[in-house]
Amino acid sequence: MRNGTTHLFIPGPTNVPEDVRQSMNVPMQDMRAPDFGDLTLGLFTGLKKVLKTTTGEVIIFPGSGTAAWEAAITNTLNPGDKVLMSRFGQFSMLWVEMAERLGLDVEVIDVPWGEGVPVEEYSRRLEADTAGEIRAVFATHNETATGVTSDVPGVRAALDACGHKAMLFVDGVSSIGSIEFEMDEWGVDLAVTGSQKGLMLPAGLGILGISQKALEASKTATMRRAYFEIGDMLKLNADGYFPYTPPTQLFHGLRASLKRIEAEGLDNIIARHRRLAEGVRRGVNAMGLELVAARPEFHSDTVSAIRVPQTIDARDVIRFGYERYNISFGSGLSQLAGKVFRIGHLGDLNAGMCLTALSLAELSLAAAGMNVEFGRGVAAAQEWYAAQEGAADAKRIAAE
Ligand SMILES: *Cc1c(COP(=O)(O)O)cnc(C)c1O
Repeated sequence: MRNGTTHLFIPGPTNVPEDVRQSMNVPMQDMRAPDFGDLTLGLFTGLKKVLKTTTGEVIIFPGSGTAAWEAAITNTLNPGDKVLMSRFGQFSMLWVEMAERLGLDVEVIDVPWGEGVPVEEYSRRLEADTAGEIRAVFATHNETATGVTSDVPGVRAALDACGHKAMLFVDGVSSIGSIEFEMDEWGVDLAVTGSQKGLMLPAGLGILGISQKALEASKTATMRRAYFEIGDMLKLNADGYFPYTPPTQLFHGLRASLKRIEAEGLDNIIARHRRLAEGVRRGVNAMGLELVAARPEFHSDTVSAIRVPQTIDARDVIRFGYERYNISFGSGLSQLAGKVFRIGHLGDLNAGMCLTALSLAELSLAAAGMNVEFGRGVAAAQEWYAAQEGAADAKRIAAE
């Protein structure tokens, strides 16, 4: 028996706002009804706004982010194609593994976990590729395992500097809708996301943004695909229909979450994530702990991966948090297991929730054996949030 609220601080699935959750409680409906497009057509336009594309197309697959990874590859590449990827955390690692399994010739650059996409090394390899053999360059925008955000515009600049024609694939699963992401401006050809992170929905939708260039490539791409064929999707999506039974409940949820995003405004959402994340970082720092992110330029505004002192096991921190304090922290994945716990700070979130996460992190760290001076982390974050609110008030007053 557990009383009160369960605190979910994993970086996805994130908390679903109450109005979004309620919006999904509707009867089943006919997905071939003449008015089905009234529900679905707005979802494509709404998602294009979130991805920041006016020239690309958006496809919604029943599936998770991983499905959209696969759809991106199989629709636009050929078996044996050479692609440039980098690996610096669990998610970038798994995308490499998938690309290899699907038969791509992957040139992988391994980077210490805590750093991001090696833009300069990409630049060197692209310049050296005078024959244009590299068909695609991959970037994990926000590595959720390490709390590292990478410089996607930098990758675009590296491609442009040598006039390289490779497509740019970006994993935006834990960035899109929470931190700055500009599909058109950054020249992203394949943008991947899922429903359960910044979009504040249950898992179940794999979302793919596709540029015109990638659409062109899909017409001749020979990799095998059936369920994920974007041609079938686009044909029916034009009128709001789908080639197979779509998850209508999630569509209702998506409509409600897009409405929230529109009402708050993407710029405000991005600023809120930055503000909240900075409070968490200050709290962590005040506790005497370090982030996995090697340098401030890599700091992720959606998730912080926090190293625990060598004398304690991060798995204990997570276990005590869950058992005693009703909180779920993210775990350390593969090589970070036992060394790291993560605080997800994305989606439907406010300062009070971040303070709860820090406060319960202090309790859980103490339970795991760390010598914690209670309140230090919380106080540092409070100072920051108070100053931020003060600054916002001053701005409001000045504007009046
Ligand atoms: C969560 C996540 C994924 C995987 O998405 P699923 O929805 O679990 O398939 C991929 N990449 C990143 C960066 C993620 O955070």
